[in-house]
Amino acid sequence: MKVIAIANQKGGVGKTTTAVNLASGLQSKGARALCMDFDPQCNLAKYLGHVPDEAPTITEFIFASATYQDMPDTSRLIRHSESGIDYIPCNIALAKVDMVLAQAMFRERVLSDTLERILPEDLYDYLIIDCNPSMGILLINALSASDQVLIPVQTEDFAADGMEDMLELIQIIKRQINPRLEVLGVLPTMAASNQVSRSVLEHLHTNYPGLTFPCEIKRCVDAAKSCRQHKPLIGSKSKLSEQYLAVTEEVLRRMEAVM
Ligand code: ADP
Ligand code: MG
Repeated sequence: MKVIAIANQKGGVGKTTTAVNLASGLQSKGARALCMDFDPQCNLAKYLGHVPDEAPTITEFIFASATYQDMPDTSRLIRHSESGIDYIPCNIALAKVDMVLAQAMFRERVLSDTLERILPEDLYDYLIIDCNPSMGILLINALSASDQVLIPVQTEDFAADGMEDMLELIQIIKRQINPRLEVLGVLPTMAASNQVSRSVLEHLHTNYPGLTFPCEIKRCVDAAKSCRQHKPLIGSKSKLSEQYLAVTEEVLRRMEAVM
């Protein structure tokens, strides 16, 4: 199983939309894909129509792991959305996990260890992790558990500003914690036909030529609609469906190149 983190310390750049639709796109290409919500705002689970229930989420597994308690029952760890996507939800208590993690031994590796213990290695080809928008211990855990990072960047003013910090964090994690970690690419999102959007796009292609995806996601109201209706864009009539399929194909090309 290859683990791909969808990460950017900025919020509202299209991480969750990309996580859901990459999982859906991979599935449409015949790959076995699982996605996981790792943002206490729980937007990925909401997108998939998740209704909170009694069964443990990744939050409870992390807590148990970080406090050396027995793992909860894993039989309902993986949920299936009505739209046919397999996912692991989190809950809002994940926001408090930093305090527990701060005291845990090997605190950067708690997620990675937890996943190894609860998720059979050969059940899925891909695990897509939807990360939270800050550079704290949750993001560090997600990156420490990943093989690849995909960075969605909104093509708007200042949107590319945080890129250097993000790339630096990835290099530190690669050096100190997880030597497998690679940058899969930079995905321009919410591209529009205005001057600002075009210049950010140009900036990305000029400054990160190999990393920036040749395809981009355009700004379109269908994204919000798909979220409200709990249906991925892939397979819908939206233009974003084709765009996310092109992204999926690029991801598959890049993953094959590294294997
Ligand atoms: P993040 O996870 O980075 O916070 P989201 O994927 O939740 O970003 O997107 C933020 C908001 O922008 C959501 O309301 C979402 O529906 C909307 N959105 C996502 N992608 C697009 C797009 N291509 N065009 C227009 N709106 C989008
Ligand atoms: Mg999100």
